[in-house]
Amino acid sequence: MDFDKLLSKIFNTDKYHFEEVHIDQEVIDSIIYYAQNADPFEFFALFDGSIKKKILHIDDLLFLPGETSGEGAVIKTGMLPLMKSNWGSVHSHPGPTALPSGTDLTTFAKMGLFHMIICRPYDQNCILAYNRYGEFTEYKII
Ligand code: ZN
Repeated sequence: MDFDKLLSKIFNTDKYHFEEVHIDQEVIDSIIYYAQNADPFEFFALFDGSIKKKILHIDDLLFLPGETSGEGAVIKTGMLPLMKSNWGSVHSHPGPTALPSGTDLTTFAKMGLFHMIICRPYDQNCILAYNRYGEFTEYKII
C-alpha cells in the first residue's frame, strides 16, 4: 500500500481522488484575461469545482480579497474564508517561464490538488499544470 492510499484510508479522502482533470474553456479564458491585466504583477486565484466519477472538474475561479504579491504565490492561509473546496490554485508569472519556484512548491503542497502557472505572453500554450507535489499534470479543456 502506498502512502497516498494509506492516507486516504485514514482520513477518508477517497472523495478527493481523481484520475482526470477537466477545466472549462471559460476558466482558461479568465486566467489569460486576469494574467494579462495583472502584468507586470502576479495574479493569484483558487479553483472551484467538484469531483465526480474520478474526474476533477474545475468550473470557476475564487479570488482572495486584496491579494497582490510580487514575491511569488504567497498567501496567508489564516485569511482564507472557510473554503468549500480546496482543489488548487492558479497564478501568473510575469516572466518567460511557468516552472514553479520553491515558494510555489510549498504553496502547491498546502493549497490543494491541482495547480496552474501561466507565464508571458499569456496564451493557452503558456499554461503548465502540476499536482500537489509539483509534478507535471495533464488536463483537458472542455
Ligand atoms: Zn510562481
